[in-house]
Amino acid sequence: MKRILLLMLMISTSLMAQKSDEDQLKEIYKQSLLNGKSYEWLDYLSNQIGGRLSGSLNAERAVRYTKQELEALGLDRVWLQPVMVPKWTRGVKEYAYVESEPGKTTSVNICALGGSVATPDGGLKTEMVEVKGLEDLKALGESKIKGKIVFFNRPMQADLISTFAAYGGCVDQRYSGAAEAVKYGAVGVIVRSMNLRLDDYPHTGSMGYGELPVDQRIPAAAISTNDAEMLSTMLALDPGLKFYFSQKCRVFPDVESYNVIGEIKGSTYPNEIITVGGHLDSWDLGDGSHDDGAGCVQSMEVLRLLKESGYTPKRTIRVVLFMNEENGLRGGNKYAEVAKEKGENHVFALESDAGGFTPRGFSFDSDAKNYERILAWKPLFEPYLIHLFEKGGSGADIGPLKGDGTVLAGLRPDSQRYFDHHHAENDTFEHVNKRELELGAATMTSLIYLIDKYGIVQGAKIKG
Ligand SMILES: [Zn+2]
Repeated sequence: MKRILLLMLMISTSLMAQKSDEDQLKEIYKQSLLNGKSYEWLDYLSNQIGGRLSGSLNAERAVRYTKQELEALGLDRVWLQPVMVPKWTRGVKEYAYVESEPGKTTSVNICALGGSVATPDGGLKTEMVEVKGLEDLKALGESKIKGKIVFFNRPMQADLISTFAAYGGCVDQRYSGAAEAVKYGAVGVIVRSMNLRLDDYPHTGSMGYGELPVDQRIPAAAISTNDAEMLSTMLALDPGLKFYFSQKCRVFPDVESYNVIGEIKGSTYPNEIITVGGHLDSWDLGDGSHDDGAGCVQSMEVLRLLKESGYTPKRTIRVVLFMNEENGLRGGNKYAEVAKEKGENHVFALESDAGGFTPRGFSFDSDAKNYERILAWKPLFEPYLIHLFEKGGSGADIGPLKGDGTVLAGLRPDSQRYFDHHHAENDTFEHVNKRELELGAATMTSLIYLIDKYGIVQGAKIKG
């Protein structure tokens, strides 16, 4: 009898020691908002290091800095995973103008697209033809395009509430515009910036030439939305006007860089891995605060907050700061490749790569069974105004982990202002709000905590 009483006492004390999920989430949000580190880390990444284009010195400084900060957290293991990345440099600032008659010019704001070739020495000046998308090229044909610069001017669709959907509806012009236009004899490409707002910032981003031989590649640049509007009006009045642009970008051989990884070993199921991450590289125009410094520091904060809130993970929790999402995805591919080689069991992966704005929820790339289990946690998030749990994509870097029952998820912050800054000179630290960033970190930590505690169903089995 005494034994039974003692046993009952032991059970009830251990139950008392274990916090309810409500209390655990409360503690996580409290720690993030009162003692958070994410904003301080972002300040350093953005203001002391700055833009971190793959293959640049800044990217390597960011690798060293984040590794050192993860080591200071006292994780079980921190390491660098080597990966070869492309090296493209912008060179001196681009220059462009519209010439309505000889000697009468109007300057416009452009920037080279990532991966583009340079213009010929002295720049490129010729007539221009405006289109609303790739499909217009065929209708115009070689007779109207040959020898000209093609101006892709389809705006992002403003009535779509998801700005990512609006981006998705336009970005083919940027990525494939040059490769497609060259088939009709175009000599250059100017693309309207992927930006819903009218302003003067050109927005860069990746583009590709496919299999096109190097000597046939044509230069491609983005133009600010204000200048795209002006140019379109000028072209309507005078279809014979000339457009000039000069850019000096260069491609170098690949260089070695790294994914930065840290982990807390699982106390019960160390072989079940939960990954959380963002991408450490950024474009070079701003300092990459929203894209994706925010996602990196939030992911680092997940491990710190779990420690601070006194929670011992059952599974291995790993933070991965991926290199080269922007112009190659080499880091994401390398991480998945090594995981496969080692036979690692990734049960769950979460990415934050949609800006440091107020979190709204998550998008899940999951089978029905796990999604149903996850949906049951939704009420826990409602006090924090996290309402959106939807099925959909996750993140580019964790995408290659898909398969073998891994559940993937992406943090979904409010997206209305994201494309005001995306890949432009104004993606800078002062546009990230400290509280919003911290709420995002706490929201991610809460989800990781629940996944760790309750596990993921793989096949028919689940470890509780
Ligand atoms: Zn990004």
